[in-house]
Amino acid sequence: MLVGIGPGSVEHMTGRARAAIAEADTIIGYVTYIKLVADLIEGKEVIRKSMTEELDRAIEALARARAGKKVALVSSGDAGVYGMAGPTYEVLFEAGWTPDSGIAVEIVPGASALNSCAALVGAPLTHDFCAISLSDLLTPWPVIARRLDAVAQADFVVALYNPKSGRRTQQIVQAQQLLLRHRRPDTPVAIVKSAYRRREQISFTTLDQMAEADIGMLSTVLIGNSQTFVREGRMVTPRGYANKYALEEGGATRAGEQAGRSLSTGLLGWLRALQAEHQAGATPDELARRHRLPADYIVQALLAPAEAPTAAAAEEGEA
Ligand code: SAH
Repeated sequence: MLVGIGPGSVEHMTGRARAAIAEADTIIGYVTYIKLVADLIEGKEVIRKSMTEELDRAIEALARARAGKKVALVSSGDAGVYGMAGPTYEVLFEAGWTPDSGIAVEIVPGASALNSCAALVGAPLTHDFCAISLSDLLTPWPVIARRLDAVAQADFVVALYNPKSGRRTQQIVQAQQLLLRHRRPDTPVAIVKSAYRRREQISFTTLDQMAEADIGMLSTVLIGNSQTFVREGRMVTPRGYANKYALEEGGATRAGEQAGRSLSTGLLGWLRALQAEHQAGATPDELARRHRLPADYIVQALLAPAEAPTAAAAEEGEA
C-alpha cells in the first residue's frame, strides 16, 4: 500500500490512510513521515529510510510483500505527486510484476501540498494551475526551465514544489526570472512552510520580491496568474464568473451571455468571430498574432464547423 498521509497532521489524513497503516505489518518511509504517524504504528516493524534511498524503499517493500507481509509505504501529501508511487511501479515492472502475480498494489490518495497550502492562503487554485518541481536531482534544468517558460506564457497559477534547499539556492532565482518575462512584477505569491505542522508559516510577497523571501525544503510557493489578487490576507484566483455575470449589479447575466451555456467567446462564438475576421480580409498569420495562437491551428479553426448542435442532437448526446 502506498499511503499518502496528507500534509502532516493526523486530522488531515484520510480514513483509508489510517486504516491502511493500521492493517500493515511493516511500515516503510522517510523518518519525518514515520514520526508524523508515530501514534499509529506501535508494535509494527518500522523501516526508516533517508531521503536518497527511494528506490531502496521500493525494493525493500517488494521483498517484504513477497515474504507475505502487508507493507505500507508512507509518503507525505499524495504518494503519486512527486512521491513513491512512480518509482514503486518501476521497481515492480522491473521485477516482472503483473496485477495478477499475487501481490496487490493499492495507492491511497492524500491531500497534496498544493491542496493544503492553497487551503491555508485562500483560494489560489480556482482556475487552471500546474505544479512544477524545482528539484534538478533527477530532472535536467532545461526541462524545468522550458516548463516554467511555457506555464508563465500560458498564465497558469503555479505551485512550485521543492523550491529551495541548502544546496539548491539558485533555482528559485532562475524561476523568478523566467516568470517575470511574462508576468507582472506585482503578481501575488504565497509561501507556505510546513503546512498543518508544528512550524507552519505563511507569508505573502510579490513575484519581483520572491527570491528574497524565506523559502526552504518544507515550503511550497504558490504564484498567481494575471487575475489573482490578495485581499484581507487571502489569495484568490477568480473562477471567471465576472465574465458572465455583472457581480456589481446583483449577479445579472451580461449582455450576449447565457447561464449554463458556453461564453460568447467560448469555442463556437470564437470560431464564428474568427471566421468573420478572416472573411473581412485578415490572413491566418495576422489572426495567429492577434489571438496568440499557432498559425496552423488558426488554419484548422477556419475550417471547423461553427454551428451549435440542434436541440434534438444535444439532448441525444446528453441521454
Ligand atoms: N508527495 C508530496 C510532495 C513531495 S515533494 C505531496 O503530495 O505533497 C516535497 C515537497 O513538497 C517539499 O519541498 C514542499 O515543496 C512540498 N511539501 C510537502 N509537504 C508540505 C507541507 N506540509 N507544507 C508545505 N509544503 C510541503
